[in-house]
Amino acid sequence: MGFSVTFLGTGAATPSLERGLSATITNIDQTLCLFDCGEGTQLQLKKFQIKSSNIQHIFISHLHGDHFFGLVGLLFTFHINHRKNPLHIYGPPPLKEILRIQMEMSVKELSYSTIFHSLNSDHFMEVCEDEKFTVTAFPLQHRLPTYGFLLKEKVRPRKVSHQFIENYHPPYTDIIRIKSGEDYVMPNGQIIPNQEITFLEPQLSFAYCLDTAFYPPLAEMVKNVDLLYHEATFMHDNVELAAEKGHSTTIQAATIAKMASAKRLMLGHISSRYRDLPSFINEARNIFPETDLAEDGMTITLRK
Ligand SMILES: [Zn+2]
Repeated sequence: MGFSVTFLGTGAATPSLERGLSATITNIDQTLCLFDCGEGTQLQLKKFQIKSSNIQHIFISHLHGDHFFGLVGLLFTFHINHRKNPLHIYGPPPLKEILRIQMEMSVKELSYSTIFHSLNSDHFMEVCEDEKFTVTAFPLQHRLPTYGFLLKEKVRPRKVSHQFIENYHPPYTDIIRIKSGEDYVMPNGQIIPNQEITFLEPQLSFAYCLDTAFYPPLAEMVKNVDLLYHEATFMHDNVELAAEKGHSTTIQAATIAKMASAKRLMLGHISSRYRDLPSFINEARNIFPETDLAEDGMTITLRK
């Protein structure tokens, strides 16, 4: 089963030719989740050849325009394209009414159903359970109610060891039995326990954390995450401005990644004022070496 993350928009506040507004897509075995939907997201989906009809869940972090003003347009396009699959939308409670008013004025009845899930918890709470993954929402620290999200794979079926197959060349029917948990019975009657010839793959995880000021409790909520996407609107010389605006700096994002023992950090929501990106990234790498800067269209593959 594949697991990848594609950054569609990595800029802050207003779009530029280099960076679109906040939107990130995850693909777990062709089930797509969209995190935020800034203005222009539809075009980014097309540009980066994402099959948007496979989006099943849309998560909106907060109601600043650069994170959701593209949503109504995307919903309208789904209707024009005769979408039939239900769509789950998760966001702060006022979003439901905002969407209702916008859609009612242009469409009598959508071609598909939408299921709205209000986020109003002040603690870590599972909000979505799909066949292969769960998504948990948790509060961040910003200028209005804002949620971060942790997407985590469910426990996957045990895999049969390649070494065992090479050594014993079991028939396909036996491999199916082993996958379902049975021991292997050799032609001479000897039994090899299932635990010795199968293994569990790790449950991969991705955390989406923007927008937020430096918020140390976040580290505990995303502990050991495989890929942390954390905002870094500013470099650290603007640490006071960042606090005032409810945003983070490079060093603060890297500090959260380090505290969380994340495996990898991607920085996003970059202010368009920064041109010297090597300096930007190095500031974070001094604290957390496994840091990279997200770019529009960049895909990180956690599992092929
Ligand atoms: Zn914001």
